[in-house]
Amino acid sequence: MEKLNLIAGDWLPGTDWAENINPSDTRDVIGQYARASAEQTRQAIAAAKAAAPAWAQSTSQSRADALEAVGVELLARREELGELLSREEGKILSEGIGEVTRAAHVFKFYAQEALRIEGLSMASIRPGVRVEVRHEPVGVVGLITPWNYPIAIPAWKIAPALAYGNTVVFKPADLTPGCGWALAEILSRAGLPAGVFNLVMGRGSVVGEEIVRSPDVAAVSFTGSEATGAGIRTRVAERGGKVQQEMGGKSPLIVMDDADLQTAIDCAIGGSVLSTGQRCTSNTRIIATPGIHDALVTGMVDAARALKVGHALDPASQIGPAVDDRQLKTNLKYISIADSEGAERLCGGEVITRDTPGFYMEPTVYGNCTNHMQHVREEIFGPVVSVLKAADYDEAVAIANDSPLGLSSGICTTSLKFAEDFKSRSQAGMVMVNLPTAGVDYHVPFGGRKGSSYGSREQGRAAREFFTTSKTAYTSF
Ligand code: NDP
Repeated sequence: MEKLNLIAGDWLPGTDWAENINPSDTRDVIGQYARASAEQTRQAIAAAKAAAPAWAQSTSQSRADALEAVGVELLARREELGELLSREEGKILSEGIGEVTRAAHVFKFYAQEALRIEGLSMASIRPGVRVEVRHEPVGVVGLITPWNYPIAIPAWKIAPALAYGNTVVFKPADLTPGCGWALAEILSRAGLPAGVFNLVMGRGSVVGEEIVRSPDVAAVSFTGSEATGAGIRTRVAERGGKVQQEMGGKSPLIVMDDADLQTAIDCAIGGSVLSTGQRCTSNTRIIATPGIHDALVTGMVDAARALKVGHALDPASQIGPAVDDRQLKTNLKYISIADSEGAERLCGGEVITRDTPGFYMEPTVYGNCTNHMQHVREEIFGPVVSVLKAADYDEAVAIANDSPLGLSSGICTTSLKFAEDFKSRSQAGMVMVNLPTAGVDYHVPFGGRKGSSYGSREQGRAAREFFTTSKTAYTSF
């Protein structure tokens, strides 16, 4: 089935087609998705520009109604769309349905936020003058998303962009365009004027580049890899645009001697290898103090070995495949790096075959790791977790913070002292106590520090900072 782009309210074919393949069964072709050309991307940007003034003046009620309608439909169709998500991305069905549910809640949240765009009114320092601070739309925003959360990430960019009165040019990942297209189709029936929301599927090097370089795109919100993000940041900044980025992670989870052992095992495995490790917030560096280290490692290995890897739609599966052949190769490259740099492979690391042809791999636990090893420093984005030993709490914190990335972090402890201290000293944008580092709420800020993020936070009310620009108005009376 062929799926088209949405440009200026019209569904249009592209110049080429992307074949959306199920990584659990490569014989299953989900559909053909139109790849837009550079010229079509420019048309989408022009349509968004033309629609921007009227949309910026639209009533908050009309924006709220549109976003609420999208949220309601996503919720009603969460099982069907969750299945589509699992088919194209490879996360297991319960996670696929969970992600669609989250996307629905995001739309419903921003429907309400559209009604609460507050400003500030205060007395001037001058007599007879009042000052107001308003938050106004920035104009056309370009949204570029990765393959690993193909509906949640688009939702948490599109919903606030529209809620705060911006028009949108959205490019989903070429590898997983199915959910982006389904979301666009729902948006096309939500009562938005033509051009307010545009979908341009296709390659980053064509469609993405056009969005990044266009002087008519006032702001670019990007989620993806550090390497891609660095180039985008430079190009948007060079032309004076606004840019917001969420990139990779290598999140640490400290496990203290006084931790509840089962909680620590659940966090260490649940937060790392589940979702095939394809989560930017995964806790892939486990830092344990000596008194719990050995029991933790034994428990992690047992838990990892017990996990069932299989077709994402098989209810028995707990881990699906890697998203594609390229990601599987990357995972295996890091397995050979870890083996060669002296880490001890305690379980996993091998490709496995199932009844259907797919990109399956065993969850992998490495022990005897140090923080300078390459596989411990770099994001793998596969089901691989490394365990390090720290002499005490202070050394554990030092190791946790010794990373060029700082998306999320966690600690398992029953000590209030350690928990409170770590929340202060962690150099990450999000900190968890007795929870995996992956798994966040949608109504609070999301984002990291250091190389993990750039610009203002996403999600919750924090999204206002990126999707609006402030104006200070003075009135003499
Ligand atoms: P990429 O950086 O390869 O791609 C992200 C998006 O950018 C895709 O839509 C891609 O297009 C597009 N793109 C690629 N090149 C350009 C370009 N020159 N100009 C504009 N856009 C471009 O990341 P992946 O899709 O491979 O996603 C995995 C990565 O994303 C991981 O490293 C992960 O850590 C990170 N990530 C971070 C998250 C966070 O919030 N911190 C959340 C999720 C993922 P194309 O479709 O052609 O690939």
